Amino acid sequence: MKIAIIGVGTVGSAVATAVKNTGCVHEIVLFDRDTIRAIAAAEDLGHAATFGFDVKINAVSNYRGIRGSDIVIIAAGANQRVGETRTDLLQKNAAVISDIIPRVMQNVDAKSVKIIVVTNPLDVMVMLAQKISGLASGRVIGTGTMLDSARLRTILSRHLSVSTQSIDAYVLGEHGDSSVIDWATISIGGVALDDFCRQTKISLPLTTRRTIEHRTRNAAYEIIRGRGATWDGIGAAAADLVRCIANNENRVLTVSIMDGTHKTGVAMSLPRIVGADGVIASMMPRLTPGAGTELRRSGKIIRKNFDAIK
Ligand code: NAD
Repeated sequence: MKIAIIGVGTVGSAVATAVKNTGCVHEIVLFDRDTIRAIAAAEDLGHAATFGFDVKINAVSNYRGIRGSDIVIIAAGANQRVGETRTDLLQKNAAVISDIIPRVMQNVDAKSVKIIVVTNPLDVMVMLAQKISGLASGRVIGTGTMLDSARLRTILSRHLSVSTQSIDAYVLGEHGDSSVIDWATISIGGVALDDFCRQTKISLPLTTRRTIEHRTRNAAYEIIRGRGATWDGIGAAAADLVRCIANNENRVLTVSIMDGTHKTGVAMSLPRIVGADGVIASMMPRLTPGAGTELRRSGKIIRKNFDAIK
């Protein structure tokens, strides 16, 4: 499998490292408008590859170099500075997506390629990329709330003293400040969270739940304050999505696509089955009325931001 990564800054490099370490790709090509940066990243990653899976890693100086790619990952664009929200990046990154997607489409097989969008504001960039590319919605996939769900599971794991692997918890809606957590849908080993807490005598009162929601939504802000940017989490999330497609795993991931099935009218994250053809099915959980209202509000925010693109 050949992967192209467009934009090889902090995030693109982390994505390349994590994808390389999945062992399910044989070639990665890196493109950045800063060619020197892409060449340097390919050198460094190439050296790293000698210690692991045998993956060919090359920088390319124009889009012809991405020909033959099965998956194209878009990690180009401005990132958040301290105090900025993802939405603050809207106009700048809409211009980046509008620059990149037509060039990508001229050099890939439109019948089979999958595009993975990482650039923020994520859901709006997915909508734009899908519209410009004209690809089926299931093949233009944003990493969405995969990362937010991982953050929620990590925090819950510490409170519940149980492995993240045993926690079924999904963040829905926008990959951003309006993301939605429905506590009623969370389970541990198939046991509903409230029952789990009762049986294990763990107290998870409303105030603690609000704190967990806040920490989940604000994790990126905290990380950016501490280390200037986020990269490890998103690198691993994007690589997990690549693995799911490469191995046709049909796993349920909370990814963002422009969704016709549930009439959200926008790209947002829901539990979706991902396989070799991209997203092959989407589900809408039975939400509590409050969470349902929050999800509709999240959709309206995404729509408003998409309509604000100049
Ligand atoms: P960065 O500034 O380190 O790197 C961005 C790279 O994009 C640069 O190398 C730049 O030269 C390149 N670039 C910009 N415009 C381009 C164009 N038109 N064509 C080709 N290359 C172009 O930024 P970063 O920290 O790597 O972040 C990249 C994006 O990823 C940001 O939008 C950020 O918000 C997003 N991000 C998303 C998630 C997520 O969960 N989806 C998490 C973290 C970061």
